[in-house]
Amino acid sequence: MKSFDAIFIGAGQAGPFLAARMAAKGMKVALIERKFLGGTCVNAGCMPTKTLVASARAAHVARHGAEYGVQISGEIAIDMKTVRARAEAVTMSSRNGLANWFSGLKTMTVIYGHARFTAPKEITVNGEMLTAPKIFLNVGARPVIPDMPGLADIDYLTSTGIIHLDSLPKHLAVIGGSYIGLEFAQMYRRFGADVTVIERGPKLASREDEDISDAIADIMRSEGIKIHTDVKDIRFAKRADGATVTIDSETVAASHVLVATGRVPNTDDLGLDAAGVVTDKRGFITVDDRLATNVEGIWALGDCNGHGAFTHTSYNDFEIAAANMLDGEDRKLSSRILAYALYIDPPLGRVGMTEKQARASGRKIMVSTRPMNRVGRANERGETKGFMKVVADAETKEILGAAILGIEGDEAIHGFIDAMNAGTTYPVLKWSVPIHPTVSELIPTLLGDLKSI
Ligand SMILES: Cc1cc2nc3c(=O)[nH]c(=O)nc-3n(C[C@H](O)[C@H](O)[C@H](O)COP(=O)(O)OP(=O)(O)OC[C@H]3O[C@@H](n4cnc5c(N)ncnc54)[C@H](O)[C@@H]3O)c2cc1C
Repeated sequence: MKSFDAIFIGAGQAGPFLAARMAAKGMKVALIERKFLGGTCVNAGCMPTKTLVASARAAHVARHGAEYGVQISGEIAIDMKTVRARAEAVTMSSRNGLANWFSGLKTMTVIYGHARFTAPKEITVNGEMLTAPKIFLNVGARPVIPDMPGLADIDYLTSTGIIHLDSLPKHLAVIGGSYIGLEFAQMYRRFGADVTVIERGPKLASREDEDISDAIADIMRSEGIKIHTDVKDIRFAKRADGATVTIDSETVAASHVLVATGRVPNTDDLGLDAAGVVTDKRGFITVDDRLATNVEGIWALGDCNGHGAFTHTSYNDFEIAAANMLDGEDRKLSSRILAYALYIDPPLGRVGMTEKQARASGRKIMVSTRPMNRVGRANERGETKGFMKVVADAETKEILGAAILGIEGDEAIHGFIDAMNAGTTYPVLKWSVPIHPTVSELIPTLLGDLKSI
């Protein structure tokens, strides 16, 4: 049995950073990864997909060059091998960067293999037994495969597989109209594929307010993406060159099918029973406000604890754990204000409550919206789709939440993220003096238009 001060299972966006901090203090740590350093974000998530989104945007801008007075002769052609190679280069640079960093940490041992508990403080990996008083789980999540008739008989893709395609699908059917599905749908449409999005719920991105979901659908449709919502029955049948997808009474002849119906935590093959670690019904590891599981000395960080499904939430779990364990602070999960982006183009930047959540909280609320065609920067750039929205508490004057669906929405939303984290009320933020001409410059104006509803 090999002993360590701490064992980390999964090299995602939380564990490795805490392991590195502990190693820098001279603690003996083991980092166990069954596949690639950097986990989903680096290898199959944010980094490759946002690189692909950038290629898709370049194609879109090139096609619209003439509107800006830029003439391009001939067809805009997409070289999918180069598109894929670009994404792989970004992934490899990050993955290799992590490997180099860790190889320089004298007390860190990186072990490649699948780790499993055999007892509360015992782990087996590659036939070896390891033990430590502190164990951190950062095992992430994987695509869920729904039980749909005929799906098992066809060759479908998930978000992990589709990023390796180096040829263009003729017709991509995307099952699931939420964040991951929508990003791939628009990207592949811009690369030149026919795209159909099939969603069981009544709206795309159904966690958002209806006005946001509707505007997202308009953006997708304006680029020629077909959208089916409220679909009751989805079935699949194999064809010589793809699959027939039957949606209620319609059929789609798809060359490729992407299943993007959500993610499940990688907790079913971790031997959690042997450790006595409790999960909820969906397999997410139950943690307290400081990320501790029910078993003393075991913590769960990142997507596997169900308190976030983003790189920045996973990284924040690292920050909370590090602050509490190494810096003598008392940081809590419940202090986090959730923020995220949907990387369609234009993107959606979001923070805090939606309008429907704010209403459901029983507060007296104020709301203000402004279309992007009344934002100077958007007009100058010729990209005026979308709108911005803020929700505030009429009594306490707190900013409860905001959404910017529009050009630079993922950046401009940080005006709200920063203000909300600093506890700034809307009457104070209204007096900030922003830079012209930016999207953010409309934040004070938006706040000035808040009305009780
Ligand atoms: C297509 C896609 C796009 C995304 N885009 C964004 C985005 O734009 N912005 C954003 O913030 N988030 C995005 N995400 C989500 C983001 O990638 C994750 O939330 C993020 O990677 C955090 O994950 P994590 O740290 O919890 O674990 P992960 O990064 O998933 O890492 C977990 C690691 O644990 C390893 N592992 C699992 N079980 C074991 C075991 N038993 N033994 C050893 N190793 C094990 C896995 O191999 C994996 O490497 C995207 C995700 C996808 C799929």
